[in-house]
Order: sequence, then C-alpha cells, then structure tokens
Amino acid sequence: MRNIRNIRDIRNLGILAHVDAGKTTVTERVLYLTGATHKRGEVHDGTTVTDFDPQERDRGITIFAAAVSCDFDGHRINLIDTPGHVDFADEVERSLRVLDGAVAVFDAVAGVEPQSESVWRQADRHGVPRIAFVNKLDRAGADLDAAVASIRRRLGVVPLTVQLPIGREAGFTGVVDLLRMRALVWDGAGGGPVELPVPDDLFDEARRRRRLLEEAVAELHAGALEEFFARSGLSADTLAAALRDITLAGDGVVVLCGSAYRNRGIEPLLAAVVAYLPSPLDVPPVAEDRPADPRAPFAGLVFKVNSTARGRLTYLRVYAGTLRKGDVVLDVGAGRTERVGRIVRVQADRHADTDQAVAGDIVAVAGVKGARPGASLAAPGAPLLLEAPVTADPVVSVA
Ligand code: GDP
Repeated sequence: MRNIRNIRDIRNLGILAHVDAGKTTVTERVLYLTGATHKRGEVHDGTTVTDFDPQERDRGITIFAAAVSCDFDGHRINLIDTPGHVDFADEVERSLRVLDGAVAVFDAVAGVEPQSESVWRQADRHGVPRIAFVNKLDRAGADLDAAVASIRRRLGVVPLTVQLPIGREAGFTGVVDLLRMRALVWDGAGGGPVELPVPDDLFDEARRRRRLLEEAVAELHAGALEEFFARSGLSADTLAAALRDITLAGDGVVVLCGSAYRNRGIEPLLAAVVAYLPSPLDVPPVAEDRPADPRAPFAGLVFKVNSTARGRLTYLRVYAGTLRKGDVVLDVGAGRTERVGRIVRVQADRHADTDQAVAGDIVAVAGVKGARPGASLAAPGAPLLLEAPVTADPVVSVA
C-alpha cells in the first residue's frame, strides 16, 4: 500500500445498510477489487474477511477490523465498520463521527426498509454526506425505479439517479452511465466492466433520463442552473461538479445501482465515492487550531478497541497533526500519557506496520494500554477533548 501524499486523496467511508441489504458483500467486493484481498469471499461459504469467522482466525486473517484500508485509483479508502445493531448505539454514533462520507446500501426488491430509515436519520444528525447504492439488481422482482421512489418518499431526499440498468433481474448485465453516456457491461467472469456505446434500444430512454437528471441538478444548484439555460443542457463536467456540491450540502443523493453478489457495479460505485464524497479537508476541523494538517498539534479520537489473540488494537482517527511510532501522547480525559508502540494499517488480509499516520487518516495502534473507545488523544503540550470522558469499559474481546 503506497503512502498517501495528499490528504485530499483520503476517503473515510462507512457503509450503511439494513441488515441483509448486502453490506458485507459490497465490502467484500470492494476489498477484492482494490486488490486488498486475494480471494473473493462469499457470504455463503464463510470466507468473507469482514465478518467474524473462526476459519479466518485460524488463518490469521483480519476479520473483526473496525477499519480496513484499501487503495482505489490513487486514493486511499478507509472503510469504517458501522455496527448496524441499535444495541450498540454508542458505537454507531462514534463510527459515524469518524467517517466523512457513506454509501447507503438498499435492496432493489425491498427498497427503503425501516432500519435503513433509522440509520439514514442518524447519519442526517451527524451531517454525513451520502451516496446510495441500490443492490441486488439481479434478483427476481428487483426494480430500481421503485427503490428510488421509496428513497424519495421515505427518506424525503431528492434522488439523483446517474445510471440506467441494462437488462432486468437475472439478465442484468450492466449500466448506462448517464453522465458520460456510455455503457458499462460486465461479462460475468468477475473482471472489470467493458465500455461500450449505449445500446440502440436504450438510447432514447437514456437521453430522457439524462435530461431528468440535468433538470433535477439544475433545480438544486445555482451554477448548474445558469449553464442549463445558457447551453440548454449540462456538460458532464458541470454535472459531476454540481453532484459533488449537492452531495456535500446534503440537498440530494446520487443513486447508483448494481449487484454486489454478481460483482456488477462496484467500480462505478468506488469512482463515485472518490468523485462525490468528501476528503478530510472538506469537513470542518475539530477545533480552530487543529486543521487536517500534518503540521498542526496532534489530536485523535479512539473509536474502537479490539482485544485480539495478538494483543490489543486501538483504532483511532487522526484529526490533526502527525502520529509517529514511539510518540508519547496524552489521553486527555484520563490525564495519563501513553507511548505509541506500533502503528498498524489493517488491510483485508494482513496488518501492515507503518511509521506514521497523518491528519485525516485512520489507523490502529498497538501498545496503547489504557485508552478506551471515545478517548481523546493529543500532543501532551496541546490537550484537546473531543468527547466527554467515558467510564464504562466497552472493550470487545474477540479472541
Ligand atoms: P448484510 O447483512 O447487509 O451484510 O448483507 P450480506 O452481504 O450478508 O448479504 C445478505 C444476503 O444477500 C447474502 O445471502 C448475500 O449473498 C445476498 N446478496 C448480497 N448481495 C446480493 C446481490 O447483489 N444479489 C443477490 N441476489 N444476493 C445478494
């Protein structure tokens, strides 16, 4: 995994979903596609890398990571696990706090379900910019338009659908990219999409939907509105820039679709994550003197502690400054200093040691013994409390 040169290239991403919508499968495909894992996992046969599974533990592979890093198109994507269960309210809140953007996954048959609605509201409260992925388009009864209508109706947000599916149900083979008006077709062998002209029989429908997208975007975005009237239409670049602004402002939601299970739609989804979701530089700093700058005084938040067979791993988000191996940091709430032993980047199939982590990044550290989830860590000379100190000990033991 290469070192990140630019904080702008980091995406701290959560995947939010109703149980069974396909969060695990989407995560799995993302890790496979980005080369972070060598074997494509299947939910069915117990080889996924994000779910706990004894078989995986025996092979020493990371299975209960709170955050997994992977690279896509020159960007580092840190996938933060967001517990879907309401019983872990604090954990959900904390994971929402450390991510900058999210993909909400919906089932193309069921549309918006009660639980997807509650995580959506929670993300609203945290002001997390989102894009939507309507999954399981290969299923019998899958209906993108109906799912999109339920997003509008139940979530009260303007859906901005940027793709038109090619083929229905088991015959779903690809999508028309309405921004660039080209077809992306997957051959079924698990490889990337082939880029083709828009099929003749879909051409008129694709143009109609492109126009609807332009109109919706022009309505939500002043700059786009101007170009819309000046050119009587929008260029792909203006459309993309406006979609990003709209996403960051939360005025609408970009909708993509696919079938994670059949490995269709994941590349465009990642491209959309990079294009529309914020980098750590796009979100407000945690404090005025703690910008997402490697030269600022260090400040970080512990969001999960895992006690594993190989020791305690403390996951943290670095908000400001640079955390280096061997540094002494202050646990602000506890008023105690800690020495950072190893800094570890968790990938799908291994823990990679790294010497430092810069502002905006998410890593795990080993050797910090006392810090609990919710603990604020800071440079000893520049304490900053990011959350009220916690008293209970919510360390999760998985070993
Ligand atoms: P999670 O509970 O949200 O993590 O959902 P999973 O990823 O575990 O998926 C739930 C079930 O749906 C599993 O049996 C998956 O194999 C299946 N599934 C996931 N994605 C798709 C898809 O795109 N198409 C179909 N037909 N099934 C899927």
